[in-house]
Amino acid sequence: MAVIKEPSFRESVDIMFNQAVALMDLPPGIEEKIRVCNSTYTVRFGVRLRGQMHTFTGYRSVHSEHMEPVKGGIRYALAVDQDEVEALAALMTFKCALVEAPFGGSKGGLCIDPRQWEEHELEQITRRFAFELVKRDLINPSQNVPAPDMGTGEREMAWIADTYRRMNTTDINGNACVTGKPAHAGGIQGRVEATGRGVQYALREFFRHPEDVKAANLSGTLDGKRVIVQGLGNVGYHAAKFLQEEDGSRIIGIIERDGALYNPDGLNVEKVREWIVKHGGVSGYPDATHHAEGGAVLEEECDILIPAALEGVINMGNAERIKAPLIIEAANGPVTAGADDILRKKGTVIIPDMYANAGGVTVSYFEWVKNLSHIRFGRMQRRQEEARHELIVKELERLDDFLGDKWSMTPDFKAQYLRGAGELELVRSGLDDTMRTAYQAISSMWHSRDDVRDLRTAAYLVAIGRVAGSYTAKGL
Ligand code: GLU
Repeated sequence: MAVIKEPSFRESVDIMFNQAVALMDLPPGIEEKIRVCNSTYTVRFGVRLRGQMHTFTGYRSVHSEHMEPVKGGIRYALAVDQDEVEALAALMTFKCALVEAPFGGSKGGLCIDPRQWEEHELEQITRRFAFELVKRDLINPSQNVPAPDMGTGEREMAWIADTYRRMNTTDINGNACVTGKPAHAGGIQGRVEATGRGVQYALREFFRHPEDVKAANLSGTLDGKRVIVQGLGNVGYHAAKFLQEEDGSRIIGIIERDGALYNPDGLNVEKVREWIVKHGGVSGYPDATHHAEGGAVLEEECDILIPAALEGVINMGNAERIKAPLIIEAANGPVTAGADDILRKKGTVIIPDMYANAGGVTVSYFEWVKNLSHIRFGRMQRRQEEARHELIVKELERLDDFLGDKWSMTPDFKAQYLRGAGELELVRSGLDDTMRTAYQAISSMWHSRDDVRDLRTAAYLVAIGRVAGSYTAKGL
């Protein structure tokens, strides 16, 4: 069924969900139960700032409680409304199911432009918002665990955790009430980079599947691939940086709020980021052509397009002109259901949001487990492993002496082999494994049936199948 009129974000999620369940044989009633959002709480609260009372509107939506706690970020943006929060909460349910993070889906939002407020004002607003949610168990280590999203980060999570602890002074697991906290305040190494890192691991896994690479009319590896990224925020910046520095990809376009940079020879991601931090935007950056109308760069020739900013940026208005053969949705909902139809007909391959940006919630899961276990990953084993490796290295050294010129250890082997894995290495390894396993599940679903027309439909089938399995097992 072709989409005729541009659907909203929420309609897009519903359309994609419906297209997937039409291919499934679910027990009666389960489809509707999974589709609907269980509850959305709206809170309006006042904070006295700048000599007057300001009223703010926030939401926390719970999509599915088939597993608890429910999980999902809190977004600070003026565009936040009930529909958006509910669509995002639904995506969280499917995202968690896909990467086997044992959570239901939730999402929160505060209708605010964070750039308009000073840090101490944002702290007051955040603490008050958190208070309203904690009071109703909408922030709670065993029921509902928020995390950062657009417009929020470690700082806000630390305020939220502190507010929860002040209200629950005897809860020994209080730190697990929110993830994405700073490393020195109960966080975990590698959470900040996690979503961008996950995009990199997702692309690496995609390129390990020759059949899928061929479907996108591409070949080879990530090395030398031309990449355009929209949004150099936390997710876009880390994804672009890692692809450039570790995989040899060429970042030829960067689209930001105030326009876009384009350079076919490649842009230096680190330098562009520094420029944005210093000047508030990309305008004036040397070594690139500047386009005032940033959206036009989405339509430039490239191998991989990474929308890492807002929803709905690839829509029925521009989909026909998008030249990238491969799109990886680092943002949530960047391609509308209408654009999805157009792109599929053109042969574009889309790695869908619910998989592509699941790195964030995956590492959130590790952080939550760390908080509940009250011990850093690797603390018990690291030195013991090193000692055992040392034994082997000693034997190899004896062999090295004995064999003289005939054989010697590869330079660096000893140092590399002896280095025990710290928390960051373990987090990256767990994330890599998660991204690989989840991709394998959706790719094999894609190829297993003719009516599974793309990776998104496959991802929905895998995710909905797991959620339905959980409902059925409970007898709900
Ligand atoms: N806000 C992120 C997302 O949309 C992370 C959620 C989390 O870590 O719970 O996936």
